[in-house]
Amino acid sequence: MRFIRSIYLRDEPEAVLLGTVPFGKELTILITHDIDYRHSVPNAVAYAELENQYGIRATYFLQTKYVNDYNDKVFFDPARTTYINSLVKLGMEIGSHSVAHSRQFSRFPTGTGHEAYPGYRPFVTNKKKTSGGSILGELRVSKFLIEQCTDADSVVSFRPGVLSNPFSLPQALEATGYRFSSSVTANKSLTHLPFRLSWGRLGRSETRIFEFPVTIEDEKAPPMDQRLGQALELAEKIASYGGLYNVLIHPNVLEEKMKFLNGFLKEWKDRAWFGTVQDFGHWWAVRSATQMTSKVRGRHRILTLGLPGTIRGLTLTVPEPWKLITAEPETTSVKQTGNTIVIEKAQDTIKIIFQAAEKT
Ligand SMILES: [Zn+2]
Repeated sequence: MRFIRSIYLRDEPEAVLLGTVPFGKELTILITHDIDYRHSVPNAVAYAELENQYGIRATYFLQTKYVNDYNDKVFFDPARTTYINSLVKLGMEIGSHSVAHSRQFSRFPTGTGHEAYPGYRPFVTNKKKTSGGSILGELRVSKFLIEQCTDADSVVSFRPGVLSNPFSLPQALEATGYRFSSSVTANKSLTHLPFRLSWGRLGRSETRIFEFPVTIEDEKAPPMDQRLGQALELAEKIASYGGLYNVLIHPNVLEEKMKFLNGFLKEWKDRAWFGTVQDFGHWWAVRSATQMTSKVRGRHRILTLGLPGTIRGLTLTVPEPWKLITAEPETTSVKQTGNTIVIEKAQDTIKIIFQAAEKT
């Protein structure tokens, strides 16, 4: 994508680009948390409160653990759903982090698509063995339980335990009503931008599922607060081309990870756009299917955008001399800062009219 962009910019003097970050910000930051341990459930609320103080929304991938096994005791129970409801109240997204959190998830059988609670009982014996699990079961049952037992809206985002990623995950996510996945690292997928997943991850036919790769994670040494400088440096690099920065923090401990998060948010709160996987996912899906045509009418340039859905903060980059005149329909709020155009809210078809520089 960045390669094609550079050719287009080189050869087209009046190039118009769709931005990759909402509201013309420099960087998209997704703060994501995996709740896969008993004590992480109450701890998650402390993270959500911090995020709420910064006015941002984050995504919490929740393991719906209702079987005692090698990994942990049950922690998806009525007492703890109160904490999950607190996250929802603070504006956070609840995604699924599977039922079993098995290291063998990528090798699970597909399943029947009829798996249901409480009959579905995956059991983790140890790091090397899990019985009774299926890919569809992990997706279906966790989504069902979160939607039925908590105040969360429909669950559309998924992250597997230990990023164990089956080849059939894209179509399995599609079949079970998900839209967004965060199942790989940016290093492995060689990109700091979202991408669309293909059937069987074979690169042939596209599914409706978008992937939002993980940029940095907390489990690596040294402790996270000692890696703040390094993390900020990477953010600058990715911001230079409007990329995505997906921070994974397990709320199993507070201290150094909270310190990291606070430092990170403080540094980027004004320059970055923050949202949940779902927020950004919907934005990216509409952006990806947006059609744009540009017409020359004397000194006017008319951009027509065809949008397949509603989008807030769609951003365009126009040639430097273009000056915004007006937009249609009249209710469309469009702002220009330099060569960046931000459309507050748009849907269906909109026209934006510019004045190009006079010929000299
Ligand atoms: Zn996990």
